[in-house]
Amino acid sequence: MGLTKKSTGASVNNSELIIKKENKSDKVIALAGNPNVGKSTVFNELTGMNQHTGNWPGKTVTNAQGKYTYKNKNFIVVDIPGTYSLMASSVEEEVARNFICFGSPDTIVVVVDATNLERNLNLVLQILEVNNNVIVCVNLLDEAKKKKIEVNFKKISNVLKVPVVGTSARSSQGLDKLKEEIYNLSHNKNKKDNLKVTYPDFLGNILKNIQNTIEKHINNKINSRWLSIKLLDLDESLHKTLNEYLKIDILEYEDVNKVINESWLELEKHNINKENIRDIIVSKIIKTGEKIYKECVTLKNKKYNERDRKIDKILTSKAFGIPIMLMLLGVIFWITIVGANYPSEILSNFLFGIQDKLTIFFEKLGTPDWVHGVLVLGIYRTLAWVISVMLPPMAIFFPIFTLLEDLGYLPRIAFNMDKFFKKACAHGKQALSMCMGFGCNACGVIGCRIIDSPRERLIAIITNSFVPCNGRFPILISIITMFFAGSLLGTWQSIISTLLLTVVILIGIFTTLFISKLLSKTILKGMPSSFVLELPPYRKPQVGKVLLRSIFDRTLFVLGRAVMVAAPAGLIIWLMSNIYIGDLSILKYCTNFLDPFAQLFGLDGVILMAFILGFPANEIVIPIIIMSYMATGNIMDMGSLTELKTLLVDNGWTWITAICTMLFCLMHFPCGTTCITIKKETGSLKWTALSILIPTITGLLMCFVVANVSRLIMMLF
Ligand code: GDP
Repeated sequence: MGLTKKSTGASVNNSELIIKKENKSDKVIALAGNPNVGKSTVFNELTGMNQHTGNWPGKTVTNAQGKYTYKNKNFIVVDIPGTYSLMASSVEEEVARNFICFGSPDTIVVVVDATNLERNLNLVLQILEVNNNVIVCVNLLDEAKKKKIEVNFKKISNVLKVPVVGTSARSSQGLDKLKEEIYNLSHNKNKKDNLKVTYPDFLGNILKNIQNTIEKHINNKINSRWLSIKLLDLDESLHKTLNEYLKIDILEYEDVNKVINESWLELEKHNINKENIRDIIVSKIIKTGEKIYKECVTLKNKKYNERDRKIDKILTSKAFGIPIMLMLLGVIFWITIVGANYPSEILSNFLFGIQDKLTIFFEKLGTPDWVHGVLVLGIYRTLAWVISVMLPPMAIFFPIFTLLEDLGYLPRIAFNMDKFFKKACAHGKQALSMCMGFGCNACGVIGCRIIDSPRERLIAIITNSFVPCNGRFPILISIITMFFAGSLLGTWQSIISTLLLTVVILIGIFTTLFISKLLSKTILKGMPSSFVLELPPYRKPQVGKVLLRSIFDRTLFVLGRAVMVAAPAGLIIWLMSNIYIGDLSILKYCTNFLDPFAQLFGLDGVILMAFILGFPANEIVIPIIIMSYMATGNIMDMGSLTELKTLLVDNGWTWITAICTMLFCLMHFPCGTTCITIKKETGSLKWTALSILIPTITGLLMCFVVANVSRLIMMLF
């Protein structure tokens, strides 16, 4: 099973290049820029949408679209993934490059970081080579002001020969001016040429020759000067996209071939070959950027990064980095566990109270028992469980995690974990995709696009489900509370629960590293690739916005998805547990069938069945277990953990069952949505099947060992 380009998710969906317009006069605006400069924030401000923002490079991996109207004209805004250059090296950079070069946007707004202009200008200069209709949006002006960095907008605008607008997108400053410039440029194309990087005379002449030859073949579809440079430095993916876009293979024309061959002969005289041409082009761009930067930016305080460096010395130090990380993880879990208790109880009392009223109502109506069973005991009850148990931890965990993300802490986690991933021959940025997996494994899998190497990206995708998502969190918390911390009172209970939950997560992390290493030594052989991990500046999170965004966007979205699955699942489970064939219900037949196999792994038929039926969304695993144990097919008070524990113990649960269920919850096949995402990202059924098999086999093995060793010890002592 080797690596192939097709099987490693290196495919970019070029359908993203086609933007559907409602009216012909609608203008398409591309938001480009380096990662983490505030593109998504500008996008949200312009469109009023809620695209994910976060203080770390690599969080936007696909194009997002939104709309706004200004002066009665419609604008379609496309937020493209952050990229440092148009010489794409990763999937998300390819998505960005393709849209900038071939998406035919009417205007490209290049968002740049006012505190890091020198590096940002490299991308601006590259985009100016492709497109004339460019606006530079110098964002993060508030930060620049704090750091005493002064930007001379007029001068930059004069040098680049494009409009330049200063913004502080987070506080909505400068956005009106930006809209005005977008309006002007989109409706009145910039006829004059922008600044183009100048190359040495001999190279300039060569480019001119190529340009003259290709112009007649490309019908003005693309900037001929840019294409001339690219034809000397053409990689496979660009060649393919170029062919699709131009609907011709430009290299198949005899005159083009001839001029390229002649150009190489000439270039070789100047010691330029296919290996070093890119370096020569890039160094020219960098030098031009440096020059503009020196002319247009004044630093009044050269030590402006000192505070961040001091904090990083502690947060990423060998001695404190990992302990602080674990402590923070523990604190988040503790707040989640303690904080979720009360709202969970209130919600459960409220929702199960309604259930009683519904029952009385149905009795009064005289509806048949089975209708009441299906609607109330099946659908409503499962929904009530999912909401009362899932909502509180999510509503607490998501905002806290988002605050850390906004603060800029996630890349520091990747930095601290880098050496472990390197030892496992995997990629340090895998830690970032794992962080995303905490919220939702499907997001984590998409997030793996930030990893450039196909081999390491596959490892990250296959192992992402070892991080429990929000659907599995509450299962772990409930079992820990019932079996391991239930007899302790008050604060101790929450501390022990937190410690145990942290241990479970650590087991997931160790397993990720172990399996990554195993994959690196077997079917995905290779050495870890080197990469540059950027540590962004620490930024004060916007608490209000974070709260609103994570509750309304993420929590309600995830909950909505769970509810959509829970309602039909509730119905199916109720039917399965209430339709009898002979003396046994269908559910009982299934669980009896699975039982001998499940017992081997410290589980039972019901638990295994619940995980299988919970494939669409893990949130419904516990309600299925409960319903299956109830001889009558339902339970009196599903909200109370004490009653629930009694039910489980009555059905043969011991602490071994509890541990094995937690282990299997942590390590089994990813949910349906994640599997579909893996198939999409890898483009291969083979890797999807492996992503299902590897965690499942690992989980079963772990359970087997734990169950049988514990049983042996219990027998001996
Ligand atoms: P993207 O990766 O370029 O899309 O960047 P985001 O829009 O996700 O923003 C990155 C981080 O910068 C987030 O934490 C934003 O809240 C923050 N941010 C964006 N614009 C500004 C701004 O004008 N001022 C400040 N202080 N922070 C900003």
